[in-house]
Amino acid sequence: MFDFSKTRAAFHLPDGVTYLDGNSLGPMPRAAQGRVAAMMADEWSEMLIGGWNKAGWYAQPRRVGDRIARLIGAGPGEVVMGDTLSIKVFQALSAALALRPDRRVILSDSGNFPSDLYVAEGLARAMGATLRVVDPGDVAQAIGDDLAVLMLTEVDYRTGRRHDMADLTARAHRAGALALWDLAHSAGAVDVDLTGADADFAVGCTYKYLNGGPGAPAFIWTHPRHAAAAQPILQGWMGHAAPFAFDAEYRPAPGIERMRVGTPPVIALAALEAALDVWDDLSLSDLRAQSIRLTQAFIAGVEAACPELVLNSPRDPQGRGSQVSFRHPQAYAVMQALIAAGVVGDFRAPDVLRFGFAPLYNDLADVERAVGVLARIVHDGSWDRAEFHQKADVT
Ligand SMILES: *Cc1c(COP(=O)(O)O)cnc(C)c1O
Repeated sequence: MFDFSKTRAAFHLPDGVTYLDGNSLGPMPRAAQGRVAAMMADEWSEMLIGGWNKAGWYAQPRRVGDRIARLIGAGPGEVVMGDTLSIKVFQALSAALALRPDRRVILSDSGNFPSDLYVAEGLARAMGATLRVVDPGDVAQAIGDDLAVLMLTEVDYRTGRRHDMADLTARAHRAGALALWDLAHSAGAVDVDLTGADADFAVGCTYKYLNGGPGAPAFIWTHPRHAAAAQPILQGWMGHAAPFAFDAEYRPAPGIERMRVGTPPVIALAALEAALDVWDDLSLSDLRAQSIRLTQAFIAGVEAACPELVLNSPRDPQGRGSQVSFRHPQAYAVMQALIAAGVVGDFRAPDVLRFGFAPLYNDLADVERAVGVLARIVHDGSWDRAEFHQKADVT
């Protein structure tokens, strides 16, 4: 079994904090601070414009993409970094739709993250397509012969329910459609295998379980069979076959680099690159085993200590990602009280207490502490203070 105390030591976790919100924003890897400082001092300061070549800034989106590829079951040269996840959803979905010009239906589910659905709705309007949204349990039956693109987030951001990527992708293919997977709550959290599942497109962010820092750039993957045919809708100069030829006419770069748009966020990529070091010796099966150990222990602990909380996640670990949620009518105030006591999870409307478990830095002591503090707060009513009912901008 992998020794996760080594990876835990690679993160700065503030004293007294049990951090169960790495599914929203991963904590700072200690190495990121030094890497960003060195990038500023040695590269930006000293090299100026020369950094694009000398420090390898230009190639960085693909270099970092190659390191993410291993964590999602993709090959080298198949992933590129840039922009935010919402933009990458837009790019992948438009490219997939363009590969099925005779079909105009996009299918997603009501557990998808709102931004993905908003982007799909806007794109559907622009491309004369229709977005169909069904309950997560009804996706398989809703795949029909009119389907162009099945667009799903593998792990539900609220419940942690994990779709069967290989099965749903195969069903989409049998119906003549393409499958686009959002890995926002999968990459760095579960054993993703895009190649094994034969998916067509995938996207994800890097500030959740990959710990790249607030605003860290997103990634996009295209199956190699589509790489030469996928048409980028955002035809930016960095996705051109020869950006520095400054051609008036657009020609897409040969592979995944056509999904680059404009100038990459070099400082953010430096932080992300450092954050990825910690994954080098880690196998996804060890990661998954530890994640299941933590989430099972948390469910068992909370159900024993707080029977009034209702499990809002699948009980079977095979159908669950690396997060667990429970429902409570006063979930918002309960979560504020928990955070004030040093156990950081988050609240999701309308009544969900959400806890992410990141094997890299969470351990069974975190689980035990979180269960104990949660039980105390729920039972002594200390959540019912005016300050804990005050809504902030970000919940
Ligand atoms: C976190 C998340 C997003 C956020 O998108 P950004 O553009 O990075 O803000 C989008 N989709 C899903 C499924 C997410 O979990």
